[in-house]
Amino acid sequence: MSETDPSSAHILVIEDEAKLARFVETELTHEGYRVSVASDGMTGLMAARDQKPDLVLLDWMLPGISGLEICRQLRSTGNRVPVVLMTAGDDVSDRVAGLDAGADDYVVKPFSIQELLTRVRAHLRHPKGSHEGHLTFMDLTLDPLTREVKRGERRVELTAKEYDLLRYLMEHPRQVLTRQQILEHVWGFDFIGDSNIIEVYIRYLRLKIEDRGEKRLIQTVRGVGYVLRE
Ligand code: CA
Repeated sequence: MSETDPSSAHILVIEDEAKLARFVETELTHEGYRVSVASDGMTGLMAARDQKPDLVLLDWMLPGISGLEICRQLRSTGNRVPVVLMTAGDDVSDRVAGLDAGADDYVVKPFSIQELLTRVRAHLRHPKGSHEGHLTFMDLTLDPLTREVKRGERRVELTAKEYDLLRYLMEHPRQVLTRQQILEHVWGFDFIGDSNIIEVYIRYLRLKIEDRGEKRLIQTVRGVGYVLRE
């Protein structure tokens, strides 16, 4: 699969709130995307299979089949279309469940259209199932399809959160990511809690990927954040 031309990409919106669906449809159309809308779970699942969209914006709570179930069903049949979940709750466990079900990302309602467009663009640039999906930095590799991470030939076992954090870093090599960016992207926009959690997880990651006399890859930028750099 070649890179999707964003200007002609087809986006399927599965959302039962008519007002929100119309708003998203209008904005995406305005950006030049082709948009189709399904307003219940079953119609949405069929459309995701039949229309072969380039990306699916998927509401969490839907009549019929839930967004989570749609995601699971798509993935269980090998469908790798990028899925961005639109969740209403501020419950972190919902989002974790969504990512575990195979969603690529999520936005939390109410979201700004800018935020939504950023996610859409990001996931259209990284079509799944293509070779580009494979992330590499130095001798570190990450396969988003199998979630397999390797340092050289050595396989590294990561927890879900460690994986999310490493993936985020690997998607932005040599780019300094601020603590706020990392928090928002890996832990969620409205994460409330100890922001030292980033240090804790960076330490876990370093123990696992830099612990055998291997070159340091995750660099600390004092007072700012972290960067993946040689
Ligand atoms: Ca809904």
